Amino acid sequence: MKAAALSHKGLVRPRNEDAYLLRLDLGVFAVADGLGGHRSGEVASHLALRVLEERLSRGTLQEPPLQQLKEAVASANEAVYQVSLSQPEHRGMATTLTAAWMIEDRCYLAHVGDSRAYIFRQGILETLTTDHSYVGDLIQKGDITREEARFHPLRNLLNRALGIEGAVEVDTREIPLTPGDVLLLCTDGLYEVVSEGEMKTILSAHSLDEAARLLVENALDKGGPDNITVVLVLYEEKD
Ligand code: MN
Repeated sequence: MKAAALSHKGLVRPRNEDAYLLRLDLGVFAVADGLGGHRSGEVASHLALRVLEERLSRGTLQEPPLQQLKEAVASANEAVYQVSLSQPEHRGMATTLTAAWMIEDRCYLAHVGDSRAYIFRQGILETLTTDHSYVGDLIQKGDITREEARFHPLRNLLNRALGIEGAVEVDTREIPLTPGDVLLLCTDGLYEVVSEGEMKTILSAHSLDEAARLLVENALDKGGPDNITVVLVLYEEKD
């Protein structure tokens, strides 16, 4: 397994409220996009990732990975919610969380919000997550395409995020991996400006580090209207 990650505040936003987690030793990778005034967005995204990391570093082989991952995300939700309740300056903060746990030839995914996971396999880029947003619902219903959603005026309206309530519904799935698969986790700052065609072109021709850099550069070339975060993981066969 190899991995690369990059986060950039973009060219418009005053601060970077995105965060990522890259723990090659645990096989744990995640992105989070925080929301809230002042520094609250940053607090929410970093706190969620710290709780996730802490929980999964105590992961066991006794329990199903998907269950453990779901519980870790539930704990992250609770932590963000508690701080939001108890600290007036952070009231109403929230974050997206898209997390992957890779164990042997499996990728376990947990997801809340509108960050995304994709898998790039043999030249095909497949979306693994559904956006928990107003436009995400429209895509699901077939009313608009993912490309059209990039330009929708209400594209930033989330209908699910971590930290809003004491409990949150978490989407999970398990993906069997084939050597050569590349997992891409990213925040909306990437996919709203970089088309899936461009992502494919970059992923097919470059090393992970180069690809991460080029994806972010491409978003910046398009004006970098939002924070941009990318995590790439290459699954390789062990010998
Ligand atoms: Mn964003």
